Amino acid sequence: MSVKFLPYNEPEVGEDEVRAVSEAILSRWITRGALTAQFEQALAARLGVSEVVALSSCTAGLHLGLLASGIGPGDEVITTPLTFAASVNAIIHAGAHPVLADIDPDTGNLSPALVERVVTPKTRAVMVVHYGGHAADMAAFNDLRDRRGLTIIEDAAHALASRIGDRWVGTDGNLTAFSFYATKNLTTGEGGALVVPDSVDAERIRVLGLHGMSRNAWNRYQNGGHWRYDVEMPGFKYNMTDVDAAMGLVQLDKLDAMQERRARLAARYRERLQGLPLVLPVERTGYGHAWHLYSVRLDVQATGDIRDQVIEDLTIAGIGTSVHFIPISHHSYYRRQFGWKPGDFPVADAFFAAQISLPLYPSMTMEDVDRVADTLGQSLRRRG
Ligand SMILES: *Cc1c(COP(=O)(O)O)cnc(C)c1O
Repeated sequence: MSVKFLPYNEPEVGEDEVRAVSEAILSRWITRGALTAQFEQALAARLGVSEVVALSSCTAGLHLGLLASGIGPGDEVITTPLTFAASVNAIIHAGAHPVLADIDPDTGNLSPALVERVVTPKTRAVMVVHYGGHAADMAAFNDLRDRRGLTIIEDAAHALASRIGDRWVGTDGNLTAFSFYATKNLTTGEGGALVVPDSVDAERIRVLGLHGMSRNAWNRYQNGGHWRYDVEMPGFKYNMTDVDAAMGLVQLDKLDAMQERRARLAARYRERLQGLPLVLPVERTGYGHAWHLYSVRLDVQATGDIRDQVIEDLTIAGIGTSVHFIPISHHSYYRRQFGWKPGDFPVADAFFAAQISLPLYPSMTMEDVDRVADTLGQSLRRRG
């Protein structure tokens, strides 16, 4: 008997995206141009911010955000061990020294109190990651920023539609990077964007993200454009393309509907997983979860260390899963380079050891959720 495979993630794309991308290609303007500018404006309008720079990835946004803040060699940047490599790699590529602080056990987000303990005279910035789509405690981080004169860079790869009170993540006056990678809540295949607060020059970030050239191809190759340009600094090749932006504009129109669907699926998971030896994702009072991940943890007191076996059972039953994240302190490069090891960040280590990300994306049905919940329940009963 063959079981139907339920993937862990599937982008919500179809004919509308095909049409928009086709039109962009057939316009014969296929890299950064009018559609990218339009996407930047549409995203800025949705968030209620004045400047968004569209880029090739969130990683590019984190890197440019650090550079535009003047962070480099000799500076320390504090971040979380419970994140994707990109967060720490951006700090390293900026030439700065990454410092880790442990997480809050309920949300998986960087703990403001533990960050405060590792601040030194060399600390210049904190890179806050909004884990899974639940915003970090930005009131505490912004307070730390103001008291200590630090820069906050927000890795909002999971948090395009996350809210704190009635405000979207990305509107707190910090450089905030979003991801439009294939698995994220809004996708352009590959892509990202950086929210640039009024205190930072967005034009400088656009220049830094496109070879450091004072005039980009759009200005140069348009009718009436001029051939002369100047390289002001050795920049990077981090721009979004109009083909990506065409898809992004369609996705942005669908974002509210996609988010509503994610929230309904998450509510169904909560209902169906109730009573199992699991720690279900929290939504702190006053926060709006973006449900990028449906991240559960085994109650290991009750189940023992059976996370890997449970994943195996789900795999055999045709259910895709993922784990977010293998802590930064477990990977060979960072261990070698910075001396971290498993055990250094006990809250993140325990979170990781018990964690499973269940399938969650708009095209899933309620029956898909029930199937995952039933299979997970069977596995826990059998293994427990
Ligand atoms: C996906 C992800 C990134 C990287 O996003 P890209 O757009 O692929 O560069 C960074 N941080 C976190 C937490 C992510 O999940």
